[in-house]
Amino acid sequence: MSLKPRMPDFFKTIAFRLTVWYAGIFSISSCVAFGLFYFLTSQTLLGQIDQDLLDKAGYFRTAIRRNGIVGAQNLAVIEAQAAGEKQIFFRLLYPTGEVFASSHMSYWREVSIDDHSVKRLMQKRVTVFQTLQVTGQDQNARVMYTFVSHNVILQTGLAMASHARFLSGFKKIFSISLGFVILFSGISGMFLSRQALAGVTAITRTAQTISGANLDQRVPETGHGDELDVLAHTFNRMLDRISALVKSIREISDNIAHDLKSPLTRIRGFAELALVQDDGNELEAYKSMAANTIEESDRLLDMINTMLVISRAEAGEAQFKLAAMDLSEMIEKAWELFVPLAEDKSIVFTRSVAKGITVNADGPMLQRAFTNLLDNALKYTPENGHVHVVLEKCGSDVVDIRVEDDGPGIDPDSLEQIFQRFFRVESSRTTPGTGLGLSLAKTIAEQHGGSVFVKNQTPSGAVFTMRLPYCNFPII
Ligand code: ADP
Repeated sequence: MSLKPRMPDFFKTIAFRLTVWYAGIFSISSCVAFGLFYFLTSQTLLGQIDQDLLDKAGYFRTAIRRNGIVGAQNLAVIEAQAAGEKQIFFRLLYPTGEVFASSHMSYWREVSIDDHSVKRLMQKRVTVFQTLQVTGQDQNARVMYTFVSHNVILQTGLAMASHARFLSGFKKIFSISLGFVILFSGISGMFLSRQALAGVTAITRTAQTISGANLDQRVPETGHGDELDVLAHTFNRMLDRISALVKSIREISDNIAHDLKSPLTRIRGFAELALVQDDGNELEAYKSMAANTIEESDRLLDMINTMLVISRAEAGEAQFKLAAMDLSEMIEKAWELFVPLAEDKSIVFTRSVAKGITVNADGPMLQRAFTNLLDNALKYTPENGHVHVVLEKCGSDVVDIRVEDDGPGIDPDSLEQIFQRFFRVESSRTTPGTGLGLSLAKTIAEQHGGSVFVKNQTPSGAVFTMRLPYCNFPII
């Protein structure tokens, strides 16, 4: 597996995608704004052209009123010459569409009389406008049909070259501006997205420098309370938890190694002794060594089995067979089993067991948990001490099993840790033990929906309580 930090492909980065979005949105908005502006401008220009044409029609009406048709004929020639014959033309028509006078038409000869427009004018009596592409010219013309007297139609047309020039200049300016907008939005989009994602990059870099051996690195937190700050904070807290977990796994494996080493060293010692022994009474010696080996192996197996039970239960894989059972009976029997041990140490061993208390439990497992508490009390209480066992119902929901002793109690600094796997209080190191008993008792109680806790009592001694949910199912 490669340990080289993996950098994302630039085109797949969020920064790149944000930049594209940013530039895209800017460009589209600019295009829409330009489109609207272009449309409004061209409509305004067209309106101006139409107004010019209408003004010209007004002149013709006045000329006809004053000087009759001849006046209009003359005006057509004069107006066209004044404005430029390539700029404007005039035709005077009868309502039939027949031309009877016009300005000089050599430039505009391709512009014919549009029957459809004449018909519309005749029917609706409203001025008709058209925009035409004039054949042979690379420009459009705006053509108007209107009555200038009750039986004379004026067809007039205006070249739209300046209009087209204005609009094409406008398009050019826009294209150049759009290029700048895309460039600017691309650069600023890249800058902004990089700024925004700088925190993510910092987290990625830190994550890449973290290894099993180096869990001390932390992402800098800005304290601004924004999303990235929350992410950095969450990431750092996650590292704290991982670091604590790795530390405890290390401690556990160190403890396992240490605790497995001692019995194995002893087993090896017995075997070695068996090899070198030469005292004539070999069979007896071998037997005793074999017995020692078996004893140490059993201790080892017991430890490994306990570890397995704890870790399976913690992983939720342990198969506890729960059934309604008489807890009072179980406590009573377990207490009796420990009486000889108490007598050996001259410990006053008493009990106060409420009768007929039932729980839903795995009997052998619960017994194992309880005997661990009992075993500890008798082990750590000095000779002539007192150990008292209590079973009672507390309220309607729970039952308490208490093991009280007047031994040394638990060092207050270690109260939190004694339920951890392999934890042994320093002063107890001379007493045989594995550091697994309380951890197993706690795991078993929790698997039954209960708990185990400890309190020191005055003047000395410890009280271990295993609290279990009460159940009044009938015992089958
Ligand atoms: P072990 O007894 O094998 O060392 P446990 O998990 O049963 O492991 O107990 C953990 C530690 O808690 C013990 O090493 C001992 O220091 C302390 N302890 C447990 N029970 C008692 C008790 N009744 N009185 C004093 N200390 C106790």
